Amino acid sequence: MSDRIAVVGAGQMGNGIAHVFAQSGFDVVMVDVADAALAKGRETIAKNLDRQVKKGTLTDAGKVGVLARVTTSTSMDAIAGAALVVEAATEHRELKFRIFADMDAKADAGAVLATNTSSISITEIAAQTKRAGQVIGMHFMNPVPVMQLVEIIRGLATSDETTGRVIAWSSAVGKTPVEVNDYPGFVANRILMPMINEAIYCVMEGVAAPEAIDTVMKLGMNHPMGPLALADLIGLDTCLAILDVLHEGLGDSKYRPCPLLRKYVAAGWLGRKSGRGFFNY
Ligand code: NAD
Repeated sequence: MSDRIAVVGAGQMGNGIAHVFAQSGFDVVMVDVADAALAKGRETIAKNLDRQVKKGTLTDAGKVGVLARVTTSTSMDAIAGAALVVEAATEHRELKFRIFADMDAKADAGAVLATNTSSISITEIAAQTKRAGQVIGMHFMNPVPVMQLVEIIRGLATSDETTGRVIAWSSAVGKTPVEVNDYPGFVANRILMPMINEAIYCVMEGVAAPEAIDTVMKLGMNHPMGPLALADLIGLDTCLAILDVLHEGLGDSKYRPCPLLRKYVAAGWLGRKSGRGFFNY
């Protein structure tokens, strides 16, 4: 495959998605609103490639080749010519609606528009465009270069052809695609977020200290990472946004976000990306 790929949003997920496509030989353009975000995105890709070189899974020349295949732009016009556009901007409904209307106007007529949203309705995002059949969820996991899964979410109008193309692209970058339907949180976050939320309730109620809670889940349930460290990795703002979508979309109080999570986000304690969450970084 030699398709050109565009990634909108160069944050932790966007730069990871750009990384895996470029490493599989695709030319990639990353689009973000801020030059600083693009510079940081490229820096992160370089750092993660260095890690692969150190491990012996990539050569120095390979690293140079991957970086040469990633270009950046602050203009949405740069998505023209891409066969696939993957949106990985901030988890905010109205923002994604605006971005998709813009992507629809600027992308080639035949292009597939995918979103990496963790929870927002693919059907509603697709309705912002004139090509709902070509809109789909392509939910990569964090960190993208390491994690095997891509959750493929079909909106109500998503065509079989679009689904087939996105499954092929996922396989081409070495991932395992799993097809699911469009309900709030899909499968991954419908199951993961209530667990993380419950861990935060345990902190709030003083059931145990954060270290103890994570140790129970690691040693007792064989999870590679505790739920609070995972929440810090995902970003506490993103966790809150997903829980709000689950709560509102499913209308069940069991999804209500823990007040302590809201308090941390209000304080700017967002986890790894801000240096402080349930743990210090
Ligand atoms: P992030 O905060 O690291 O990055 C978001 C990026 O979007 C920022 O660089 C920001 O400048 C950019 N952005 C904002 N508005 C934009 C616009 N109008 N046009 C272009 N770029 C814009 O967030 P993230 O963790 O990378 O999350 C991105 C998406 O991926 C979200 O939808 C999130 O739910 C989803 N996701 C996150 C994780 C995770 O573990 N963090 C996992 C799977 C999916």
